[in-house]
This record gives sequence, structure tokens and C-alpha cells, in this order.
Amino acid sequence: MKSNKQRRAEIKARRLERAADLKAKLRTQDARQLSAGGLVPGMAMADKSLLAHYNTTFGEVPDFYLDQAYTCRDCGAQEVWTAKQQKWWHEVVQGSVYSQAVRCRACRQARRALRDAALRNEGANLLGDEVARLRALATKKPTDESLAQVETALQSKWRSLRVVAIEVMGQWGGPEQIERLQAFAADRGSSYGSWEYEASKAAAKALARKAEVDPEC
Ligand SMILES: [Zn+2]
Repeated sequence: MKSNKQRRAEIKARRLERAADLKAKLRTQDARQLSAGGLVPGMAMADKSLLAHYNTTFGEVPDFYLDQAYTCRDCGAQEVWTAKQQKWWHEVVQGSVYSQAVRCRACRQARRALRDAALRNEGANLLGDEVARLRALATKKPTDESLAQVETALQSKWRSLRVVAIEVMGQWGGPEQIERLQAFAADRGSSYGSWEYEASKAAAKALARKAEVDPEC
């Protein structure tokens, strides 16, 4: 038994062949002759009453649509913009007269998914990802690279990243980090809600956690 995938591939191959065939025929005869004996496969009649938007300087309103082969702009696959799809585009969607199919279905979906993800990620989630990434640094011994990343986070315009950087320093808990945490923690007098206040709180918490396992701090 054939899988759906096989069947789709066969249909596509047949459509491509047919589109090439139609194109070849159009070189020797015009479309009216083509359809003299009625519609041929790969052809759909146009409903001119739905094509008012076609009446531009662009030219004639089409009598019908023909399957058109095209190459996907992104993946290079051979595809067919079928006559039915064109009819739907021009008459139902009332899409642009100048439109051409340029991407295969899979590539269109991939683009849409990327765009949606980018929209979702704007702001909040990117920050969330960055927080998670910084936290993960704390589970390993500091390296030059991760130390630099924490330094960068400390300069971030996002307060939450700066706070996480302080927490990570606390978890690393080397002498140099302890010293810096103590300096942060010393700034207790700052006004509630200020960055210094938040930093002091985060540093104090990190030092307290450190103290439980290392009482000499
Ligand atoms: Zn593609």
C-alpha cells in the first residue's frame, strides 16, 4: 500500500508534468484554443464578475487560470501553483493581481512559525531565557568565559539579569566573589525598590546561603 507521502509526491510529479505541458502548448496556441473542447486538466475558468480589482493598467482580466510551475525561493523545490489555488487567491481572497507563488507550503509554514516565535519572544521570554542561561552557569565551576558573562550581566540594563548575576556569584562563592557580595550587601541603607536595595538583598541572601555550608564567611 502506498503511504500518503508517496501519493502526494506522485500527485505533485503529475502536476509538474502537466504544468510544463500546458506551458509548451501555450507557445503554439493561445489559451482559447486550448480550452476549445472544454476545460483541460490544470485549468480553471475565471469568474470575471469577481475580478473587478483586476481592472487596472495591468492589462486584461484573465479568462481562466492555468497551473504554473515555480521554484521555491527558499528550498529550491519544484512546485505548482495550481489553477484552483490561483482562482481562490484572485477571486476569494481578492489578492494582489501581481502576486506570484514564491514559496512552497513547508517553507511558508516555517517562515510563519519563525515570525510567530519572534513575536512571542520579544522582551519577556528572551529575558527569561537569559536568566535561565545565567543560572545554569552557577551549577559549574566558574571559567574565564562564565566570569565574563556574569560581569556582562551585572552591567545589563535589565535589573533581573543583574540580580541573577549576584546570585550566581553567591553560588560560586570564591573569595573574590564573597568580597564583592559583601560590598553589595553593605549598601543596606538604599531606598526600597532601588537597584542598590535589590542588589544588597540578593547579595545578603547569597552570603547567607554560603554561610550555611561555609560558616567562616
Ligand atoms: Zn520550499
